[in-house]
Amino acid sequence: MPQEPTRSIALVIALTYLVAAVLFIVGLKLLSSPRTARRGNAIGALGMLLAIAATLLDQQIIGFRWILLGFAIGTAAGAWLALAVKMTAMPQMVALLNGFGGAASAIVAIAEYHLLLLDPAQRATDVVVSIMATTLIGALTFTGSMVAFAKLQELMPGKAITFPLQKALNFALLAAAVGVSAWLVVDFDMPTVFTALIVISLVVGVLLVIPIGGADMPVVISLLNSYSGMAGAAAGFVLHNNVLIISGALVGASGIILTQIMCRAMNRSLTNVLFGAFGATTTAAAGDGADRPGRTVRPEDAAVMLGYARSVVFVPGYGLAVAQAQHSVKELATLLEKRGVDVKYAIHPVAGRMPGHMNVLLAEADVPYDKLYEMDDINREFDRTDVALVIGANDVTNPAARTDPTSPLYGMPILDVDHAKSVIVIKRSMNPGFAGIENELYYNEKTAMLFGDAKKMLVAVAGEISKA
Ligand code: NDP
Repeated sequence: MPQEPTRSIALVIALTYLVAAVLFIVGLKLLSSPRTARRGNAIGALGMLLAIAATLLDQQIIGFRWILLGFAIGTAAGAWLALAVKMTAMPQMVALLNGFGGAASAIVAIAEYHLLLLDPAQRATDVVVSIMATTLIGALTFTGSMVAFAKLQELMPGKAITFPLQKALNFALLAAAVGVSAWLVVDFDMPTVFTALIVISLVVGVLLVIPIGGADMPVVISLLNSYSGMAGAAAGFVLHNNVLIISGALVGASGIILTQIMCRAMNRSLTNVLFGAFGATTTAAAGDGADRPGRTVRPEDAAVMLGYARSVVFVPGYGLAVAQAQHSVKELATLLEKRGVDVKYAIHPVAGRMPGHMNVLLAEADVPYDKLYEMDDINREFDRTDVALVIGANDVTNPAARTDPTSPLYGMPILDVDHAKSVIVIKRSMNPGFAGIENELYYNEKTAMLFGDAKKMLVAVAGEISKA
């Protein structure tokens, strides 16, 4: 009889975890379309709330003081970040969150290792294997994500960093980490070797990410996202916590699917991204183009070109996010549509600095989803387009990706804006984009450069069109 309350609480916890897992899956499904994404987010958050509440009912909790302290610090930091971080800094924030996820899982595994050192009777093989896997994946996710964060925040050079025998060293260290883990599974009582596993894993994380640079960063971000999920799932096995296993596996699997989508968008295989050191040659191709300014136009000229066109395709890129010009884009589109111009938006999968960046921005400005065209669909349209208006996009329109085998972008599918009858490019200077290379599009005879901040220029063009 005395065990009854514990058993019923265990049942409540298990059932709540089951409901939470279902909510995670439904939430993820809804996140796959912009129309239902908000609802998906709310449902996922509800699942997380239930999972946390159920975990707090766990009978093994010996005190709530530290839990509440962590809860207060985490909530305050999370709320502050959500309010303070700008949309343009979201990719760095995602990298940080991946890293913290990996670190949290590794810390759980390290704590569990030390508990089992004191209590050999509790050492089941599955738990010991999970501790090693969590430590390895969690630690490398942490440092790898910190390097990705530093690259995106421009605290370190964004291009690939390479040195002789790098691949051999990476393979050797990775093999050493797996070997040391296996050794610890056989002979657990070696805290010094365990410390070596932590150190090697941390170093591997740094070494795996530094040779990835330039335009390949989206792949590494989604891969690290997947690793953080795998570390979480492995930590779930350490703690025998089903909801952690399920949610970690969901993050791990969706991260891998996203990685595949990003690889396809870049037309690269994952091994090529991880071990090919792409972007390493970017400096050679870079140039500020100051001596070749391209053909320039003023907002009034652009207004005439757009106002008298029959079809216009807007091509947003990272500069749209920097300028926060999503509302101005929508206003210009509305004005043009009132004049009978057909307006479409071309969405490149890696435009901006995070997967779905342009979709999020344009959704914020209530641009109808049916006006957004994926790369393959819109590329068929450019031949029939009067004006392609490129707004702060650079790498995703660079024809060198099609024509120049020495370019670091070579092979990446791009938006074929140069197939349109004329092209207007809004950006502030001739500076290169993320990959650090010059864009021949700007010297094409069809192209007119409208120099200035995207928002200011769009407002100026719209002003000219409304005057007409
Ligand atoms: P790019 O980074 O290639 O180019 C952005 C352009 O915007 C710059 O050339 C810049 O030129 C211009 N710009 C910046 N601020 C403004 C402003 N206020 N007003 C007007 N223009 C501005 O962007 P793309 O979107 O074309 O390509 C994305 C790149 O980022 C790809 O190389 C991709 O691989 C990479 N990447 C993508 C990630 C993702 O998940 N989507 C993640 C990490 C990297 P100027 O300074 O002259 O104004």
